[in-house]
Amino acid sequence: METITATGAIDVLNPITLEKLYEIEETEQPKINEVYKRARAAQLTIAALSVKQRVKEVLKIRDYVIDNREKLITQLIKETGKSRTDAYTSELFEICDVIHVFAKKAPKVLADQKVPTPIVLMGKKSKIIYQPLGTILIIPPWNYPIYQGLIPSLLAFLAGNAVIVKPSEHTPLKGLFEEMYEKSGFVKDAIQIVYGSGVTGQRLIDKRPDKIHFTGSCRTGKKIMAQASQYLIPVDLELGGKDPSIIFDDVNMERTVNGVMWGGFTTAGQSCTSIERCYVQENIHDQFVKMIVDKTKKLRVSTPDRNIEDPADCDVGCMTTDFQCTIIEEHIKDAVEKGAKVLCGGSRPEGTRHFPPTIIVDANHDMKIMTEETFGPVIPIMKFTSEEEAIKLANDSPYGLSASVWSKDLQRCDRVARALVTGNVSINNHMLTEGNPHLPFGGVKESGFGRYKGDAGLLTFSNSKSVLVDKQSKLIEPHWYPFTKTKYQLLDDIVTSYFSKSKNWIKFASSGLKLDSIGNKEQIK
Ligand code: NAD
Repeated sequence: METITATGAIDVLNPITLEKLYEIEETEQPKINEVYKRARAAQLTIAALSVKQRVKEVLKIRDYVIDNREKLITQLIKETGKSRTDAYTSELFEICDVIHVFAKKAPKVLADQKVPTPIVLMGKKSKIIYQPLGTILIIPPWNYPIYQGLIPSLLAFLAGNAVIVKPSEHTPLKGLFEEMYEKSGFVKDAIQIVYGSGVTGQRLIDKRPDKIHFTGSCRTGKKIMAQASQYLIPVDLELGGKDPSIIFDDVNMERTVNGVMWGGFTTAGQSCTSIERCYVQENIHDQFVKMIVDKTKKLRVSTPDRNIEDPADCDVGCMTTDFQCTIIEEHIKDAVEKGAKVLCGGSRPEGTRHFPPTIIVDANHDMKIMTEETFGPVIPIMKFTSEEEAIKLANDSPYGLSASVWSKDLQRCDRVARALVTGNVSINNHMLTEGNPHLPFGGVKESGFGRYKGDAGLLTFSNSKSVLVDKQSKLIEPHWYPFTKTKYQLLDDIVTSYFSKSKNWIKFASSGLKLDSIGNKEQIK
């Protein structure tokens, strides 16, 4: 396993102006030990609360978020460069929505669940009880720092766990969560924040949390899984994507073009489920391209002097990190060298992170822009002729996070959605599965595994403990010692009379009764 070396203080910049906001340091081992000690102690308090009491705590966070929304959004924009509306819809609104749904869902999902007990175990009862795992380590990325730092933490808390969060070193939002938990009066030490880069992340894993919930790149996900495997720590990996969107020739062009533009450019394309590849049916390709290029050129792009307090200051925010701009540039260069054409956007003003929305045509699967995660405001377009070809192209990817299918023919959309090898599909929309907290979210293939949100979002942070209740009696079970020829024959009679195609209820009942009576006799001996 590769160990990363600490590099000293990490500067946190405002990506819009490039001014330094503050710096953070790696967290040293003694402090990490203290954090775990406090988490383990707090966990006992959390586990003793009923789920309804935990819900009350989480609602304090909702109230705090609503009361302080403008302040939270402003700090978020300063560290990510998002447009104000993107920050509001994809983080603040989503947080309120998820809390709203889980406040009702958690008591139902986490209640003891009775399950049937088969007739061969007559007289016994079975149930599942959901218990906390202990201390959960949450490692979020930089693209949705409030949402990704908060939502998995609250779901883990609802399931009775203590939580330690290590925010991304690019968008640590220093002090934001601490103030939120303190001022809202949330259970002390239930969710703690630890700053640093991957170095601190590795130190935190070495302290053996009971589960790791990671959201980030495929590269880091593999490293985390390797380290966690040494201690057999379970991991949920929410990794990258290369989302396709498939546009059939019967769509309403105006709506679809607007939807695809939003799906590709929201949060400046820095979403794991942004549209990264667009497949358009051949006979509408030129019309689609003309309309999307005309509309994209009219989008207002982030600038260094934009007024971040104004919700209409720009449509497309800026890139959060410089290294991501370099990846976009590499992908565009590679595509152009291999024959693609850039119809708008394509390069940023030098020395800035304000990358304009970009449309590329004549793309193909020999190009990085169609095969590797670009994570920027770029929509590469490729033609297809048949449904089969569209499915084949969309599935030709190491990733399998999400996708969208656009057509008036809902049966065709359903067929294509089923054929796509992804964790999520939106029909005639994009990224909207994430808008419904009742739906589980997660990927397949190199987009990771594990699901959060939906019922799975609570169960993933729980020990689903199976309990079978038998009575105290004199009866010796037929499968206990001693083993005899008679018992064996009776067991065989049960299998052939009860499980086989031609059931023989009389034989089954008499074999069962005989086995029971043998058990009783053995007890008497
Ligand atoms: P990243 O993998 O570089 O970093 C994510 C987090 O991991 C950061 O907090 C980082 O400090 C930490 N980290 C790095 N090395 C580590 C190590 N060895 N041990 C422990 N922690 C370590 O990802 P990123 O660049 O911050 O985020 C972008 C990626 O996240 C994209 O690939 C995007 O698709 C993905 N993403 C996925 C989802 C999803 O739900 N599937 C959501 C958002 C983003």
